[in-house]
Amino acid sequence: MKADFHCHTSASDGSLSPKELIDRALEKELSALAITDHDTTAGYEQIQDYAQENGLDLIPASEISCQWQGHTIHVVGLNIDVDNERLQAGLKANRIKRWTRAFEIDAKFQSRRFHGLLEKILPAVGEGMIGRNHFAQALIEEGHIKNHQQAFDKFLKKGKPMYAPVEWPELTEVVDWILDARGIAVIAHPHIYKISSNKLNKMIEDFKAAGGQALEVVNQPRPCAEQIGMAQRAERYELYASLGSDFHRPEQSWRDLGWLAPMPKACQPVWQLFEECFSGTAIEKGAQSS
Ligand code: AMP
Ligand code: MN
Ligand code: MN
Ligand code: MN
Repeated sequence: MKADFHCHTSASDGSLSPKELIDRALEKELSALAITDHDTTAGYEQIQDYAQENGLDLIPASEISCQWQGHTIHVVGLNIDVDNERLQAGLKANRIKRWTRAFEIDAKFQSRRFHGLLEKILPAVGEGMIGRNHFAQALIEEGHIKNHQQAFDKFLKKGKPMYAPVEWPELTEVVDWILDARGIAVIAHPHIYKISSNKLNKMIEDFKAAGGQALEVVNQPRPCAEQIGMAQRAERYELYASLGSDFHRPEQSWRDLGWLAPMPKACQPVWQLFEECFSGTAIEKGAQSS
């Protein structure tokens, strides 16, 4: 089975519309996909019928911002009930925090004579999700920087002048929203958090105690040391393993939809928990990603 359970559309900070993303998934011959837009399910809701008509198993999902011991952590909710009121109220509260932060970021830019960024962002975002990548895109379009990475390195990441912190909900609370919506909570890209190995283990323990069920083990095209470490943790903590590219835009050629190393043999793939939702045509029971 070829699957990707972590990617973004223009409903959050990706550059492709939900339809363009589904078309790319079909081009890449994926059989299962989860759109994991930050703090919203709008992209999924818009495009689920189109995915179904084209034989792609689209898993309802979202990547939810939260915090653990003051660190911002992303938890993916997979196979969630998008009509769950508690989950949707939580996602909405997060989007409101994002708007508050966007005005703070814009004020910081204005104080350094970068004017009109928010106005430039607004038409595309509407009342949807706003994130730091929108500021990065506006800065690129205005010719201030060359790419998204530069925007974070010069302005937007923690420690840089336009960084504005957010009081995200606690990790355990977000896991609870996902459980309420009968979904599977997955720690997204566990290797990117700037915490020690011991702290990461402690976070995984707290996550598991709250009802979290999976770790994103595979997120790069080739097997690597980080992946081995996360596969070992999944085994040690008896967690399922997920996989996802975190695709945002085609220009980022090092990270494409479905371009992922195979799931390590020792891991229990997370789709075992919801493969009854798949149409079944392209999926052999127990097959590993390839
Ligand atoms: P936000 O949730 O709006 O704070 O933005 C988070 C997104 O910004 C992530 O999904 C990444 O796409 C991007 N991002 C965060 N930190 C960095 C970084 N240090 N370098 C590049 N991109 C980053
Ligand atoms: Mn993003
Ligand atoms: Mn993330
Ligand atoms: Mn992501």
